[in-house]
Amino acid sequence: MKSPKYILFSGLFFIFVATLLFLNIFKEYESGIKTINNELTGIHKIIKLHNLNISLKTLRGLSQLSDKDAEELKNILSVNEQTVLRKIEKLTDKTITKDFKSIIAIKHCSSLELFNKYTNLIKKLDRLRVETSQKYFLFFEHDKESYYLMMLTSIKIPKTIEYMGRLRGLISSVLSGKNRYEAVKTQTAINMGYFLEQIDTIKYIISKLPQDKAEILNQKINTTMASFYELKKDISNIAKDKHSINAKEYFLKASKLIENLNELFAITENMLIDNLKKTKHNILVKIWINVAIYLLLILLASYATYRFYKKSSIEMLEDEKRKKEWQLRNTIRDEFMKNSSLRELCYVFLSKITDYFCALNGSMYIYDSNNDKLYLGAVYGIDEKRAKKTLTMHENVIGEVVKEKKTKIITLKQNINLGNIDIKSSKLVTVPMIELNQCTGAMQLYFDDRFKNVDLNFLEEMANLVSSYIYKSQKDEISKNYFELIDKYVLISKTDYNGIITQVSSYFCELSGYRRSELIGSTHALMRHPDTTDEKIKELWETIKQKKVWRGEIKNKKKSGEIFWLYTVITPDLDINGNIIGFTAIRSDITDKKYIEQISITDGLTSLYNRRHFDEIFPKQLKIAKRQNSHLAFAMVDIDKFKQYNDIYGHQEGDSALKAVANILKNGLKRADDYSFRLGGEEFGLLFKSKTKQGTIDICERIRQGVEKLNIEHKGNNAKPFLTISLGVVLISPTSSALPEEIYKKADEALYKAKNGGRNRVEIVEI
Ligand code: GH3
Ligand code: MG
Ligand code: MG
Repeated sequence: MKSPKYILFSGLFFIFVATLLFLNIFKEYESGIKTINNELTGIHKIIKLHNLNISLKTLRGLSQLSDKDAEELKNILSVNEQTVLRKIEKLTDKTITKDFKSIIAIKHCSSLELFNKYTNLIKKLDRLRVETSQKYFLFFEHDKESYYLMMLTSIKIPKTIEYMGRLRGLISSVLSGKNRYEAVKTQTAINMGYFLEQIDTIKYIISKLPQDKAEILNQKINTTMASFYELKKDISNIAKDKHSINAKEYFLKASKLIENLNELFAITENMLIDNLKKTKHNILVKIWINVAIYLLLILLASYATYRFYKKSSIEMLEDEKRKKEWQLRNTIRDEFMKNSSLRELCYVFLSKITDYFCALNGSMYIYDSNNDKLYLGAVYGIDEKRAKKTLTMHENVIGEVVKEKKTKIITLKQNINLGNIDIKSSKLVTVPMIELNQCTGAMQLYFDDRFKNVDLNFLEEMANLVSSYIYKSQKDEISKNYFELIDKYVLISKTDYNGIITQVSSYFCELSGYRRSELIGSTHALMRHPDTTDEKIKELWETIKQKKVWRGEIKNKKKSGEIFWLYTVITPDLDINGNIIGFTAIRSDITDKKYIEQISITDGLTSLYNRRHFDEIFPKQLKIAKRQNSHLAFAMVDIDKFKQYNDIYGHQEGDSALKAVANILKNGLKRADDYSFRLGGEEFGLLFKSKTKQGTIDICERIRQGVEKLNIEHKGNNAKPFLTISLGVVLISPTSSALPEEIYKKADEALYKAKNGGRNRVEIVEI
């Protein structure tokens, strides 16, 4: 739909163009009527001139008769010079009056001379008639019928009458004895010829007219011609000098013929006037029809313009309304994006809505379903201190609206003074805020008269929109708190499929000593402790890549180098199609636990594993070796003559010697799954994987020599003057089914053998 302005302009333009068009048509009709009126005036003038001419012709004819006859006929034909003069005097052409006056003043003059003078005057009058025809544009008539009638009345019939008038005068002069026939013979013949010629022309013109009209005119012509032939007979008699008719009789006869022609003139004249009047009438009818069409058109155009204008105006208003509504929706959404806290949101939403709907003030309560109470979310135009912070559900209309989920409008009749504004009628509108059929609260707006402009449906829609954002914000706030807690107190990190860290909690950063930027983009290998074996890492990856959860303890290294232990649960993150997109690791710090654990299995003096740990490890290692189908060596180590050493060098020196021996044992076994224990007193145990007997002996020999090479003086030793050790070794085959106690006993026996064999030596048995 076009704009109202455009429609109004188009409508007015159409009316303007139509008016111009119709004015043009009316102008044309008006000029048609003007032309017809003009023609009618011209025709009336011509009739007058024609009648005057007829009278002049009669006077001319009478001038050819004897005075007696002339006087008599003047009375009969009721024509005389004085009346003619009065009529002539009315004409504009004064020379005609002058000429006529001079003619009637003539006393002695030949009849032919008088005849010619009259004829000249008649010619002048004829000219005047033709001029009149031209002046009133009679020959410009477009209608053919009228044109022919015009030709008959203006030219042809008057001419015919003139030829007959001349014949009447000429022959009358012969009959009255004023002239001899011979003198007028030629003129008679000429005029008779002209007469007949004119009659033919008249007949021809009549034949062009419609049948009914032609018939009437032809009848008149026929009567005329009958009279003419009689007259012609008389004239031929006169030519033969047979005067069978006297001058008076002849004059009257000829006058009768002229009268006939004059009647013909009158008939054509009437036909012409009728025609013109009919044309005029037709034009007038056309004018009225056009006026009616024009008025109808204008009326229709005005009505259409009005309807379209109204429709377009309404549409424009609706468009504007929709645009404003759309803007409000956008504003609310934008504010939701901008404002982070729920409280800020409540305030900004309420203010936007009260502003939009032109409310005087408003408040918003948020419903808490956990304790069935309403909490003040925001106020607008009200002092916050005066608003109740918490409402119980049955306390007022807000609670009712929340419960019923239906808008309530209360009309307040009393006059209210809001500062400098007096409000006579006002409405208190309470709208529920509904999200997914759940009421999250209510908005209460206070309106003056402007309430009538409020689109309640849209207000409800906005309340619901606000509700959805508030609901979302509440959820977000819970999630935010939750995530904050996780970030602060949970050791969590996320990696992509390749183990590149993508997210890491602040607590993890804090514990590891690395900055978040250092961790994101690198792998957990950054923190890997050398003690963490490749096998463990391999097993971890194999588990999680099979979409399984891996759980285990991992020894790590902080940025500072400090050790920390993490109990780690790694779960694969899957996309909607079940493909691994990354991994999430949640850990707990078990460093303290690990520390206590370490203490409980460590010997305080030598830092070797203690007996308890040996008892725990030994059966396990036996099982592992069996499973791996490998040999396991267990060596029992005892310091030679250590009692004496203590006795000679003191207990403290004895402790130092124990530490020194322990170091040799620890350093002698390099592999991760080699273990050295202090089994008690000055007795140690070694557990290590070994393939052959010789290999086992070699390892034990190296340790034995290692102690010897310490060169710790021991005067009480009978094998060497230094501190030495004896080793009783058992090499356990994977096929052996010996129990740990049996193996222990065998080792003890081997040791006993080594002691008995002179000490500072290795004794080995295979089982
Ligand atoms: P051999 O084994 O060569 O037959 O002679 P031995 O003197 O070493 O005999 P025995 O195993 O009976 O002696 C063990 C001695 O080790 C007894 C004790 O004085 C000493 N001993 C045990 N525990 C400790 C300890 O923690 N510190 C010190 N300084 N001496 C210890
Ligand atoms: Mg001993
Ligand atoms: Mg000993």
